Amino acid sequence: MRINRFSEEMIKRFGEKVYRIPLSAGCTCPNRDGTLGTGGCAFCSGSGSGEFSFPDIPISEQIRKGKELLAGKTDARRFIGYFQSYTNTYGDQNRLRQLFLEVISDPEICALSIATRPDCLEEDMISFLSDLSGIKPVWVELGLQTANDETARAMNRCYEREAFDSAYKRLKKAGLEVIVHIILGLPGEDEEDMMRTARYVSQLKPEVDGIKIHMLQILKGTALGEEYEREPFRVLSLEEYTDLVIRIFRMLPESTVIHRFTGDGPKKLLIEPKWCWEKKKVLNYMNKEIARA
Ligand code: SF4
Repeated sequence: MRINRFSEEMIKRFGEKVYRIPLSAGCTCPNRDGTLGTGGCAFCSGSGSGEFSFPDIPISEQIRKGKELLAGKTDARRFIGYFQSYTNTYGDQNRLRQLFLEVISDPEICALSIATRPDCLEEDMISFLSDLSGIKPVWVELGLQTANDETARAMNRCYEREAFDSAYKRLKKAGLEVIVHIILGLPGEDEEDMMRTARYVSQLKPEVDGIKIHMLQILKGTALGEEYEREPFRVLSLEEYTDLVIRIFRMLPESTVIHRFTGDGPKKLLIEPKWCWEKKKVLNYMNKEIARA
């Protein structure tokens, strides 16, 4: 089976390999600061669903350090400025606009990627991002995780699918590229629930630009981690997960770019599934199965 891989798509688009530099906008999340809740989503670690190394320094320094780190391991020359952790459109809108502009103005940054919640996208911010996308590509990454509101409530996501529908439509109308995140293996969801989420994403109109598929990682220090230690629940095996991922690939429009299909959670916090520890082995197995499918 051929899939539209992120790495290949970037070469097609930018003529060479590009690397993500994780950046911090210094945001929090309405699901953490008391606006909607304080505990966050049940699966989210204190780092807001992302690992970041230099959160407290100016953005230009973050970019410089990110490039420096990559230079030690790769021949990277072009980068994606990636605001990954927490809700990166939440907070002082002027300050955020300045940050995004500064990142996109870096000559070696070829795209800007902003992860956020669908209920934190004001019209002015969407219109600003749309203007920025006239300079370089701007991707908005929306954490849906599941299309099933019942599971979302159990996970304390604190927004309903309707909010996602509305944000998706507004972003696409503004001409922005949208990447949707989903999680497989959420407690209480069976195969049919997960396929329902996949079907929902694959039937979005206009077609979804990109997807990140994650295996649920149960982490220490999260509500889900505590629940699991109290009362363990079944987690997907690598084989089951791979099978579901392949079924999702079959459903998605051909044009959808697969940005990720494995997890990259913090190893030191991972409780289950233990197979996620062996990232290389997991990738080899999955790639072999995808090629055979
Ligand atoms: S919305 Fe994102 S950052 Fe906020 S608690 Fe949920 S996963 Fe974490």
